[in-house]
Amino acid sequence: MINKRRPPQRGPVALVRLQEDAYDSLARALELCRGLEDLEPGHSVLIKPNYVGLPRRPYVPPFGVVTTTLVLEALIRLLQDHGCRHILVGDGGLVMPDVETGTEITMALLGVPTLARRYGIEPVDLNQGPFVELESEGLKLKVSQTALEADFLVSLPVLKTHSQCRVSLALKNLKGCLHLRSKQVCHDAGLHLDANVARLARLLYPDLAVIDGRYALAQGPFATGRARRADLLLAARDALDADLVGAELLGHPPQEVLHLAETARLLGRGLELPPVVGDLDLAEARMDLPHDFAWADPYTPEVYAKAGVRGFLLPKYDASLCTGCSYLYNPALVMVLVAGQQAGGLGGVELLTGKRTAPSGRARTSILMGNCIIKQFRKDPRLGQRKVLIPGCPPKLSQVEKGLAEAGVPVKLDYYYGFLERLGRRYRPEDGFLPADFQPQEEA
Ligand code: SF4
Repeated sequence: MINKRRPPQRGPVALVRLQEDAYDSLARALELCRGLEDLEPGHSVLIKPNYVGLPRRPYVPPFGVVTTTLVLEALIRLLQDHGCRHILVGDGGLVMPDVETGTEITMALLGVPTLARRYGIEPVDLNQGPFVELESEGLKLKVSQTALEADFLVSLPVLKTHSQCRVSLALKNLKGCLHLRSKQVCHDAGLHLDANVARLARLLYPDLAVIDGRYALAQGPFATGRARRADLLLAARDALDADLVGAELLGHPPQEVLHLAETARLLGRGLELPPVVGDLDLAEARMDLPHDFAWADPYTPEVYAKAGVRGFLLPKYDASLCTGCSYLYNPALVMVLVAGQQAGGLGGVELLTGKRTAPSGRARTSILMGNCIIKQFRKDPRLGQRKVLIPGCPPKLSQVEKGLAEAGVPVKLDYYYGFLERLGRRYRPEDGFLPADFQPQEEA
């Protein structure tokens, strides 16, 4: 029987230090927020981590990008100690076979199959369905039946900022429970992403939110942001309450986070911060993590201006790029950056992607990346004399390399892989960035 999930009864928000023993820290947070009060031992539980996507290779640093296995395993043990025997861990991550990423691959990289053997939990790729079509405020979305039918839904996101939504916490995390097409619909050309995340909250609302703050990420949601070790745990029965505190913690006043403001409006609530309990003072723990990258002018990323890249117009991404094209935007930006530093100038090329970025009217060559922008602008008179189309939804990374080369920009995928290698070296174990946090703990 499909249950349109409603917000649970509210309680305090727990903010605690994530100590050496993650189990003890999480137990304390859940006790403080009375997080398991409504959970009966016979209930089925779905844990929804943030598994946006890690490729099998090359290595991409996971810090602040995906939920740590450290906190996931602690939660599984706590639920089992509570008496729960039917526990699922599910997400519907980015699917890009050409870069070898998908939910199953991400789960394998993070040791979820080992947790399945050790604890008898069930990993689920929510992308595989089934789905139920539901409507919220006029928006039709196909929602995971598994998520709707679980007796108890736990949202287990990372403490991260998001370049389009400012923060991506317990409510935004639920977008992974949608059919791929519905995820894309949320990134509509009218830029209603925040409103659509709030609409989803009317259909699917967790019974518990646990925000994994082992690491926090600035300029998220991908590894191109900058992670820091934070050692925090946030937990609350009510996801909006958890997110209001999480946003504040990241340095983003809740009234500026539109999907939180809209969710509050739809629930008939205000944006005042709920009571916070635990061993940390919110004001003292507050970080100021930027969510966005700077552009020197509407067509020039600041990093291009600083590096002296000339002759390439790259309009800033907007909320109409869904995860697939967003994922490709970064390699394109990085490859052009390296090529642009080596070449004298790039000859007036523009790269358009997403669903609504219009041609500048100033380029000699226009690259249209992705089916949406091709459909929208392929006949636009403002396009340059030469047009390079990179079809796909999303296109393949190798096609992006080929398309840029065809437009006369001498790029190589190796430039991007070299960048990832440098990113990986940024995070050193001696500075507290521990790959072991993303693997099951050693058995005693
Ligand atoms: S082409 Fe890109 S922006 Fe359009 S729906 Fe596909 S992934 Fe999203």
